[in-house]
Amino acid sequence: MGQTLTEKILDDHLVEGELETGEEIGIEIDQVLTQDTTGTLVWLQFEALGLDEVQTELAAQYCDHQTYQFDFKNTDDHRFLRSAAGTFGAHFSRPGNGICHQVHKEHFAAPGKTLLGSDSHTPTPGGLGQLAIGSGGLDVAVAMGGGPYYIEMPEVVNVRLEGELPEWATAKDVILEMLRKLSVKGGVGKIFEYTGPGVETLSVPERTTITNMGTELGATSSLFPTDERTEEFLSRLDREDVHVDLQPDDDAEYDDEVVIDLSELEPLIATPSMPDNVVPVREVAGTDVEQVIIGSCTNGAYEDILPSAKMLEGRQIDRKTEMIVAPGSKQASEMLAREGWTAEMMAAGVNFSEATCGACIGIGHVPASDSVSLRTFNRNFEGRSGIEDDSVYLCSPEVATAAALKGEIVDPRDLADDLGDLDAPGLEMPDEYDGSTTDLIAPDEAVDDGLVKGPNIGDVPLKDALEADLEGPALLKMDDNITTDHIIPATQDILMYRSNIPKLSEFTLSRVDESFAQRALDTDGGFLVAGENYGQGSSREHAALCPMYLGIEGVLAQSFARIHKANLFNFGLLPLSIDEADYQQIEQGDDIEIVDDVDEAVRSGQEEFTVRVNGDWELTATLDASEREREILADGGKLPHTRKQYDAG
Ligand code: SF4
Repeated sequence: MGQTLTEKILDDHLVEGELETGEEIGIEIDQVLTQDTTGTLVWLQFEALGLDEVQTELAAQYCDHQTYQFDFKNTDDHRFLRSAAGTFGAHFSRPGNGICHQVHKEHFAAPGKTLLGSDSHTPTPGGLGQLAIGSGGLDVAVAMGGGPYYIEMPEVVNVRLEGELPEWATAKDVILEMLRKLSVKGGVGKIFEYTGPGVETLSVPERTTITNMGTELGATSSLFPTDERTEEFLSRLDREDVHVDLQPDDDAEYDDEVVIDLSELEPLIATPSMPDNVVPVREVAGTDVEQVIIGSCTNGAYEDILPSAKMLEGRQIDRKTEMIVAPGSKQASEMLAREGWTAEMMAAGVNFSEATCGACIGIGHVPASDSVSLRTFNRNFEGRSGIEDDSVYLCSPEVATAAALKGEIVDPRDLADDLGDLDAPGLEMPDEYDGSTTDLIAPDEAVDDGLVKGPNIGDVPLKDALEADLEGPALLKMDDNITTDHIIPATQDILMYRSNIPKLSEFTLSRVDESFAQRALDTDGGFLVAGENYGQGSSREHAALCPMYLGIEGVLAQSFARIHKANLFNFGLLPLSIDEADYQQIEQGDDIEIVDDVDEAVRSGQEEFTVRVNGDWELTATLDASEREREILADGGKLPHTRKQYDAG
């Protein structure tokens, strides 16, 4: 039986396991990327592992999420990241140089290679045949030290593209159509592999718009084959040497298939406040629009902004609508400026921002209250724009620009009919990408002499290996659906302490109980008790690290969210499942004692544990963990576990 492209790349990198759907596999990682909100912890963990040099073929550190420097903390973080990149051997992209996924695509993405990144949109370079996966920071640190990355073998879904996009329909409409069909949960545990005759009609920037937003489907990754268009794209970047021909076998067998006829697509839009609330633009035409933003890692490339510039040439945006362009990279900004497009857009009423995530995470350009904002971004979760009850729509640059011209949502085909002289801009590729690279510092150009840590950057706390006895109070009893935002809020005033775990820990679970952190420190740890779906939300590893710092030994919950459970293993916290009746009976403040020899039980594969409460009644709790997860847990977490492996040679 032939192989899918996913299987071919995984096979080339397989170090453990077999490519059977659902089985745990270990793969070798060629490249890693990290960004500023997750990167400080990645490097502190890399340092704590006792490593002194990056072992992957390439590592890149970007500064893109929090580039506005409100006080010394973000600036100190960026200086630390620059020094860590230089010290350990990674490329450093300075604040303002652009969003990690855009800059990585321009400079480093390579077909057939594996990429692991501590950002959920890491799969972006799948558009040029790179198998790229997002993960927690500790997994990135371990991979950077040469360790395998472990994952359950995903299902591989064939997305067969037929036909060719008509005028005014774009790559954004392809991925919005996928979201309309499959929903934000439709890709969980899956890799989407794009095939069929429609593939060759799409340029690489169009393909990366699709792979970027595959994350909104919940997919592990998305992947395109390579062809002449990939080779041309790389040669315009002067990187044709990394091109390789990659195709699935003709007789490859997929777990599932989705067919999209590109010729039937029309301009689509995701309405508030979920990326899968997708409707044709005409259905919401006439809605007043106060703000339009073009940019982000989805549609911030030169090829995304140029169509907008052409539509605006010689025109004025509507008087009541603000339009902001935030290019995805400084290279895109520089090229638009050199070609005169920046001036053209500014004359039409556009304001330019530096190349940053910024507005995508509510930092700058927050919409006015009770107003509509149209954005070319990938997410419109409620409140993400920086204001509660926001009303954010997601669409292509063409639809966004049409709205800026008219002051209301309008299908660009209808606007073209009204204006009479508005042509579909189509996609135009530059002859070459010639932006400056002075904002990208290679490892051999490092400017610091060793690690530079400001006062807001601390060490990574380490946990001891499990012991035979485990007991302590139930420090906090919580309801169902506690999110990682409840555990460690992601607001700017708190997240600025992301490199200072003792300080950040003071905010642990403060949204549930303000006095929790102090109580945990006073009692020298204990247990958390929760209902269903504990730890849902982001992959934020601080949500496990901070409780660990406060001395929490384990969580007794009815059920756990998948990624957070993995993070609990990674930081040595015992995740035990309990049934509803026992959950109801436990009270906050009860004494919890695990009767079994915990170290022995975890290592030996024991699934059921006896838990004694207040010394007078007992319940049975379950540990559902692979052999590898049990070893990690027993050693006190992935950091000490990996160090032990290094010591053993
Ligand atoms: Fe994440 Fe938005 Fe930045 Fe993309 S632009 S990396 S989605 S914050």
